[in-house]
Order: sequence, then structure tokens, then C-alpha cells
Amino acid sequence: MNWLTNKVLPKIRKLTTSSRDTPDNLWVKCPGCGEMLFHQELVQNLNVCNHCDHHLRVGPKDRFEQLFDGSRYDVIELPDVQVDPLKFRDSRKYTDRLKDARHNTGDKDAMIVAHGKMGGNAAVVAVQNFQFMGGSLGMAVGEAIVAASKLAILQKAPLILFSAAGGARMQEGILSLMQMPRTTVAVQRLKEAKLPFIVVLTDPTTGGVTASYAMLGDIQISEPGTLICFAGPRVIEETIREKLPEGFQRAEFLVEKGMLDMVVHRRDMKKTLSVLIDLIANKFKSEDTADKSAPAAEPTQDAAPAADAAGKKADAPSESKA
Ligand SMILES: [Zn+2]
Repeated sequence: MNWLTNKVLPKIRKLTTSSRDTPDNLWVKCPGCGEMLFHQELVQNLNVCNHCDHHLRVGPKDRFEQLFDGSRYDVIELPDVQVDPLKFRDSRKYTDRLKDARHNTGDKDAMIVAHGKMGGNAAVVAVQNFQFMGGSLGMAVGEAIVAASKLAILQKAPLILFSAAGGARMQEGILSLMQMPRTTVAVQRLKEAKLPFIVVLTDPTTGGVTASYAMLGDIQISEPGTLICFAGPRVIEETIREKLPEGFQRAEFLVEKGMLDMVVHRRDMKKTLSVLIDLIANKFKSEDTADKSAPAAEPTQDAAPAADAAGKKADAPSESKA
């Protein structure tokens, strides 16, 4: 029975779901420069265009594989939420849109949470999927962030959140807006537990997401060229009737204005995050040992990562970048 459930079933499932991952054609047009990119090459290049460096959007699965050591991670089960409580319908029923998004992505909703090791240290990573109804923040995404925060506190690990959203999910009305304060409280709990919250803003991060958890990171990182705003450039131009400066609301512009700490190329993302986690984890460990004069108190869980981190410390400074 074990052999059936553990070995055979996953293989069959993989066979039946693999068609979803196979691209319809082997070429992808770069949204940045219009070049046709060979799919396999693009994947090898972490979905970054090798002509113009445009960072194409990536979903949670690719992101986890790029970030976790040895691409090993565990996705956590997220609590179910009430489906379509407002019985919302615009040009289509909300339930139909949900059904399509679930079919296309294979996920239940727009935020996936996983945990594993990054640079030898434990980390919880939450990734928002723009493919799923524009990554919109609804009750399920709210639940996911609360769950991610709880898991990070339980594991005494940092929470790294990759945001990508068009804003709040209008089909859930006030219930989606309520997720803004709710996720803010989840972030606050991390801060009370003295755990770092690192946000990586990916293209695009807009609306209610920018107005809540995506801007509350202790460290704010972004990928190159990311659009980050509350209201989009077109809306602002129409409202103030003025031409906006070049690159307005893009990551590079926001670093210059002090809204972000750094813009990091996708190929350097794992290294940068690993160094940051390592630095912060070691800092807290040294504070911990300074606080408690009795060292034998709680060695079991932290001992291994600490040793691991110490070993990696030597190459940390040369890798760190601003
Ligand atoms: Zn390109």
C-alpha cells in the first residue's frame, strides 16, 4: 500500500499533470525587446531575457526551485476559505473565474507557502502568483500570509515574501480589503518575535498589496524593472494632468527615492537572500547567547544551522552587494 501511495501515485499524477507545464510552442516572445526566446534556454536563464535582461514573471514553483538549497522544500497546506461569499458576478461569475485560475495554475489560490533551507539556514518563503487572477489579495492570500507568519515564528525562521499583484480581489469586496490590516498584524507578530520579514517585490506589485504587507519588510528588495505603485502611472497622469518622469514607479527609480533598499538581478537573488539571512541569523544567535548565561537551555534546534552558518560566514562579505 505504501509503495502504491508513495511511489506509483505521484508518478501517475506527474504524467497526467505534466501537460500543464509543457509550453504550447517552444518559443516565447520577450515582453521587453520582442525577441523570440527558446523556451528551454529561457528556463536555464531563470526566465530572464538574454538579449535585454527583461525579467519575465515566474510562478511559485520555479521560484522555490531557484531559491531553496538543492531545490528541496516543503509546501504547506493552507486553510480553506469560504468560496464566493458575496455571490459576485460581473461579466462572468467569480466561481467560474476561480475555476479557470485553478485549472490553469494547478493551485488553490494566488499565494503558496513553502519552507526549507536557504544557504544552510531555515527559511519560510511565500510566493504570490500573478497568473492566478492577477495575484489578487483575497481571503485565501490573507490566510496564506497569516499561516506563513505563524510557521516562521514556530520555526524561528525569517519570512521572505515575493509579492506580485494587481491589488485586492474586488470579487470579495470588503472581505478582501480586510486582508490589508489582517496581514499587517501577521507581519507585526513577526516583528514582536524579532524575526526578519524580507519582501521581494516582483513585477507588478500594485494597489492594496503595496498599501499593506508588501511595503512592511525590514528589508525591501526588488527585481529590475518591476512596476511598484498604488495607482498606476496612467491614472496619475490623467488626474494631475502632467507628464510623469522617465521610469516613474519602476524599481530603480524607487531605490533612488529611498522606497526600496536594493534591486537584485534574479541570478543573484538566492545568494543575496542567503547572505542576508545568514547575517541576521548569526546576529540574533550572538545576542541570544549574550542574554542567557546558561548555555545548555535550548541547544537542539538551533545548533545545526548555527554551525552551518558559521562555516559559510567566511565567503559572506565578498558576496554581499548593495
Ligand atoms: Zn528581451
